[in-house]
Amino acid sequence: MDMQSTVEEIVATVRPLLRRGDVASYIPGLANVSPDKFGMCVAMSDGEVFGAGDWHTQFSIQSISKVFSLALVMSYDYDSIWRRVSREPSGSAFNSMVQLEADQGIPRNPFINAGALVVTDRLLTLTGDAAHSIRGLLRSESGNPSVDVDRAVAASEAQHGHRNAAMAHFLASYGNLENPVELVMENYFDQCALEISTEDLAKASLFLARHGVSAGGTPFLSPNQSKRINAVMLTCGTYDAAGEFAYRVGLPGKSGVGGGIIAVVPGRCSVAVWGPSLGPNGNSVAGIAALDEFTTRTGWSIF
Ligand code: GLN
Repeated sequence: MDMQSTVEEIVATVRPLLRRGDVASYIPGLANVSPDKFGMCVAMSDGEVFGAGDWHTQFSIQSISKVFSLALVMSYDYDSIWRRVSREPSGSAFNSMVQLEADQGIPRNPFINAGALVVTDRLLTLTGDAAHSIRGLLRSESGNPSVDVDRAVAASEAQHGHRNAAMAHFLASYGNLENPVELVMENYFDQCALEISTEDLAKASLFLARHGVSAGGTPFLSPNQSKRINAVMLTCGTYDAAGEFAYRVGLPGKSGVGGGIIAVVPGRCSVAVWGPSLGPNGNSVAGIAALDEFTTRTGWSIF
């Protein structure tokens, strides 16, 4: 298969969908991104990279950062995070807190906001600076030392982050935060505001396709840890649309409200797509269509 042509054809195929859905506006710092952008990159496990469209343009990583924070926590501290967060799909929106009281302050999974706040809190304890550690991982795995936080987006989120603040305080009331709420929030907003291109994101996600092996060729995670993160991505990575994502794409995936999605073909490649218009569950409409097209054309769904 000619992967470069495949990627170019997929990007052309999804272009008519770019204005379906809405660009995230609850974070004002994201509201002005053009819905007409679309980028796609496939990074093969041997290092070859194929891209098309706006694949060099940087966008806000948002909740895709939650994969990297979880990976870092597991790399330091294999398993203990699972005493503080479950790994079941929530069936609720990414920013929902309805289950948190019934579940005694234990979030359903690490990819909804409540769970991600707990993971960031753990990473803060382990490293002293969670957002900085995530940035370091993205830089080293992508090979791009200029990956950084978009300060305007981070400030915009902090200013409008009442729901996340409520959630963090609620977690703290159950004793499920180790650090001051304000510090956890600052790190969480910074990690979500990291800017990255689909090229760098696909490269940075490759360790999940290479059974935990980092870009430098050394183990970052064990094969088993990598398997576990991919499993949680499959079941929880696209929130209350995880069933639909598995049905259409059939790969572990993680979305963000910046319009990015990563997907992993274990043993083979990682894929990053970016289209800013989101469907009702906060996932890129054109991005999901592109990944659906990708597994349909390549036959590389895990199913
Ligand atoms: N920073 C966003 C928030 O906390 C992340 C949400 C997302 O990408 N799904 O609301």
